[in-house]
Amino acid sequence: MKHGRLHTIAGCMSSGKTGELIRLLSRHRVIGDDIVIYKHSVDTRDGDKARSRLGTEMEAIVVSSSDQIMRGPCRVVGIEEAQFFDEGLVKRVQELLDDGCQVYVTGLNQDFRGEPFGVMPVLMSLADELSLLTAICQKCHGVGTRTQRLIDGEPAPWDSPTVLVGGADYYEARCPDCHEVPAAE
Ligand SMILES: [Zn+2]
Repeated sequence: MKHGRLHTIAGCMSSGKTGELIRLLSRHRVIGDDIVIYKHSVDTRDGDKARSRLGTEMEAIVVSSSDQIMRGPCRVVGIEEAQFFDEGLVKRVQELLDDGCQVYVTGLNQDFRGEPFGVMPVLMSLADELSLLTAICQKCHGVGTRTQRLIDGEPAPWDSPTVLVGGADYYEARCPDCHEVPAAE
């Protein structure tokens, strides 16, 4: 059996990761491959859909931990928002690859502070193919590579939690020059 292949799609907020995932997976759909997409339950946008800003979408299964990710009958597995998953995701992905699966993973490579986010650095280094996408900076229209967290319209301080659930937080793409992370108060 052929060994699987890992394609990691990394980038900041609004860099088109989900759109790229759907584009890549639709090539498999055209030739009749069975596809399954998993997304983490922290991401409550769009329910059980992976939906891009281009309007494209695919069905997804919402899970809360890496051990809920199964290959089932599918040879093609997509995993959205990998940065939210536990460390077990790396082993799970490697098992899928050993099993001959084509695995596509998306995620934020940096957290709101600009630091490596969760298991994404590992999944980037293990990738057979890596797409590092950029956005447009919402402030200066330069090249956006960072994710700016805003709470009530103000840049979130360094010591706010890495993952905020259901809060008044809002995210936008920024270039490194416009990215603001105030020191803890
Ligand atoms: Zn900028």
